[in-house]
Amino acid sequence: MTTLDDIVSLCKRRGFIYPGSEIYGGITGFWDYGPMGSQLKRNLKNLWWKHMIQLRDDVVGLDAAIIMNPAVWEASGHTTAFADPLVECKVCHKRFRADKEEEMIAHTKEHKEAVVWTEPKQFNLLTEAYLGVTEPKQKVYLRGEITQGVFVNFQNVVDSTRVKIPFGIAQIGKAFRNEITPGNFTFRSREFEQMEMEFFIKPDEESGKKWFDYWKEQRMTWYRSLGFKAESLRFRDHRDDERAFYAKFATDIEYQAPFGWSEFEGIHHRGDWDLGKHKLTYKDPVTGEIFTPWVIETSGGVDRATLFLLLEAYTKEEKRIVLKLHPSLAPTTVAVFPLMPNKQELVEKAKNVYHQLKTDYSTAWDDRGNIGKRYLAQDETGTPFCVTIDFTTLEDDTVTIRFRDTASQERVPLQKLTEIIKTYMKEA
Ligand code: ATP
Repeated sequence: MTTLDDIVSLCKRRGFIYPGSEIYGGITGFWDYGPMGSQLKRNLKNLWWKHMIQLRDDVVGLDAAIIMNPAVWEASGHTTAFADPLVECKVCHKRFRADKEEEMIAHTKEHKEAVVWTEPKQFNLLTEAYLGVTEPKQKVYLRGEITQGVFVNFQNVVDSTRVKIPFGIAQIGKAFRNEITPGNFTFRSREFEQMEMEFFIKPDEESGKKWFDYWKEQRMTWYRSLGFKAESLRFRDHRDDERAFYAKFATDIEYQAPFGWSEFEGIHHRGDWDLGKHKLTYKDPVTGEIFTPWVIETSGGVDRATLFLLLEAYTKEEKRIVLKLHPSLAPTTVAVFPLMPNKQELVEKAKNVYHQLKTDYSTAWDDRGNIGKRYLAQDETGTPFCVTIDFTTLEDDTVTIRFRDTASQERVPLQKLTEIIKTYMKEA
């Protein structure tokens, strides 16, 4: 069973994720993605964008600003209702979320005496910032969710493009929450990225049910296509007491993490709540009917998905640790090795191959130590292919390609290398 410590250690050792501001002692709830992690996250976001926008005719993209007029957050209700219930342990003054019962139970075991809790207080999660050069400065908020950027641009998108209901607006971007209990590595951070889509539909029960079920299925199928095993994921419908009062249906996609089943995407039927709050309507171009569309939302976390992909891919074998990431997600697609670093003709040939592959794929160069060690290093960052240039290459223009998951090797003509990698990636 992979532990969270396995992943934290791999992430630090191999350049996936570092603690934020580490040389100054860090800062709780913030993480920096290193060379491997930033590429993995970028690959994930690109695949999401392709699946949600490029391959569809009914969803368009958006990239709204992080800071908006504070009136947006007043209208959406976030300044009053974007809050978690906070309780404090009266023994040690540590703070907890009253809706995370398991964490509170675990804490009671840390004290010999009986723990007494304060009454829950609503704690607002919005992060404040101050703008302007004269006092008093204007108080603004770093967005607590990226969703509102879509709603405030609803009319702009309708007026400037040819979208017609049903259609969606999707975006990826940073969100900030002053979380009471950041933790479980990147799972609960104070700065994180979301990938979300708001799908606008006709306001009727039948459409609502149809599109909610459609997006549930779409999103689960997509995650499985990235390599999650069926048994690692599940839907969890929100209980009546946790569902926002305006939400008609809400379900989470959860991953079986070492710290328990945990949400990383929500699919919500938000009815007309958001557009209604912003007083936005839609005019049917054919019938002229004016109405407030309903919204089905798919709201995923990039950081949580990245963490869960790492947990899912981490495999400890007898002689190696291998990250069995989907080839399209792997930070490096192919690594090129000259058999010996001190043989000029091998290095030259290998450099040519390296530069040629680099135009199509994320390609790494390694000429340190022996080949076995180079393979092991690439396995730990999930590189699906390693290509070795040896003396036979100089004679007949063939190379050895080694496959990550099976560690098997094949001799192939150099000319066919790009094609072989392309086919393998397509079929994965
Ligand atoms: P939770 O109950 O865990 O606090 P939430 O239900 O408040 O999460 P949403 O508001 O539905 O989360 O946000 C949508 C997605 O954004 C989540 O499924 C998650 O992937 C991501 N997300 C939310 N909060 C955080 C966070 N603090 N750190 C990392 N990702 C987050």
